[in-house]
Parts: sequence; structure tokens; C-alpha cells
Amino acid sequence: MSTGFSLEEEQLFEKTGGAVFERLRKTRNPADLLGVLRQAHKRFDRAYDSAPATARAAVACRAGCGTCCHVPVGVQAHEVFIAAEFIQTRYSPEDLAAVIDRVAAHRAAFAGRTMDERAALKTPCALLRDGSCTIYEARPETCRSHHSHNLDGCRSNLESGLDVIDVLIPEIRGRMFAVMLGIDQAVAEVGFDGQAYDFGSALHEALTDAMCVVRWRQRLPAFPESCREVGQPDDAPDAGVIRAEGFFQ
Ligand code: SF4
Repeated sequence: MSTGFSLEEEQLFEKTGGAVFERLRKTRNPADLLGVLRQAHKRFDRAYDSAPATARAAVACRAGCGTCCHVPVGVQAHEVFIAAEFIQTRYSPEDLAAVIDRVAAHRAAFAGRTMDERAALKTPCALLRDGSCTIYEARPETCRSHHSHNLDGCRSNLESGLDVIDVLIPEIRGRMFAVMLGIDQAVAEVGFDGQAYDFGSALHEALTDAMCVVRWRQRLPAFPESCREVGQPDDAPDAGVIRAEGFFQ
């Protein structure tokens, strides 16, 4: 597979994917599977720490910003369950009810719209409060991967709806993407749902239907079609599905 990675990033992809694949494959108790993936998310922190000091010093992201939390977030199913479990165990009953209302509204707003139309809504994530993520420890992989060196550029991109200003930091972005692709490829290769879902829509489903995680553990599609991340210009029936190609076996 051509990934466009540097040699170091390619090695990080292989190391991450191989380790996650083996741990998932050897996990016998289905209840432990999400724990394996929660642990795997710590690899993002280690990859960040391994980036050059100059690259880390360039990061301008700060608590209270939340600009990047106004765009659709694409995820695999396991990321939704990690977030849902965090919400169900940490939120008060009142806050849980409120977030279910917000993700229900998000899902209704996104239903039947293309990706571009969804992005144009600039809907704040249902988990954003006062500019900060309320599930920071359990946030999705895309959220963990985003680091900007230019806050004004982030705001301009959001206002215009066009990603014309490059705000990313290559040495960090490459590492984050290698970890994300390694985890997601391993998940699909072990046989779990490899489809891409809209985070807010799938989160509503996960918080209101306990059978979703049961389906996932059975290696079935976890969420209904209505939660799929669809509508890209080059959309195809299987768009967003990560194919298992034998990288880690
Ligand atoms: S999960 Fe957290 S970091 Fe990700 S978009 Fe929502 S508020 Fe932002």
C-alpha cells in the first residue's frame, strides 16, 4: 500500500497496527476488547512526544478554542463506543439526558445531507462545552490527530468553509495519521466493523440502543446506514470501508 508516509511513519504504522492486531486477536473476553483499543489510543500521546521539539513548540491549540470542533467528525465504531462508555459512566443523569438530546438534534440535522452540506452547517460538536471537549480522555482518533500552528488560519477556514490555509504541522500530522491508520486497519483486519460513521449520529445510536455494541462484538456492522459518513463527491457504495489486506497477519 502506498501511504505517502516517511520511512519513520511507515514503521510507526506497521508497529502500531501489528501490536493492536495481536492484542485484539488474543483477547478472548469480548468485554475486554474496548479496553484494548482504549489503551491503543495512548499511542497517539507517545507518537506526539516523539515528534521534534520544534514541531511540538509550534502547536497553537489551546483549551477554550474549539474551532476544529465545528466540522463533521468521521470515526470507526469502536471510537463511538469508547466515547459512549465515558459519557455513561462520568456524566450525571441530567448531563447524560442533555447530551442525548443534543446528539439527537445533530443526527436529525445531518440526515439526508451530503458531506459538504453537513460541513456547511458548522454544527458545534455535542460534547463541546465552553470551547473545551468534555470527553477529552475518550475523544475520537481524528480529534487526537489534529494540531494546528495557526489559530487565525483555523478560524478563517471555518468561516469560509474552505480549507485553503494549511494549519497542520507535517512532523506531527504524519505521526498521528500513521497511528490512526494502524489502529483502524488492525480493527478491520481482525474482522470488526471497518465502516466510517458520522460521530454525532452514531453516538446518538450508541447511547440509545444497547444492541449496537453487541453487534460490534459479533463483528457485524454496529450502526444503521443512516449513521454512515456518506455523501462525499466520489462516494461509492463501499466508501469509507477500510479493507483488510493482510498487513498484520
Ligand atoms: S469529541 Fe471533543 S475534541 Fe472531538 S469534536 Fe467533539 S468536542 Fe471536539
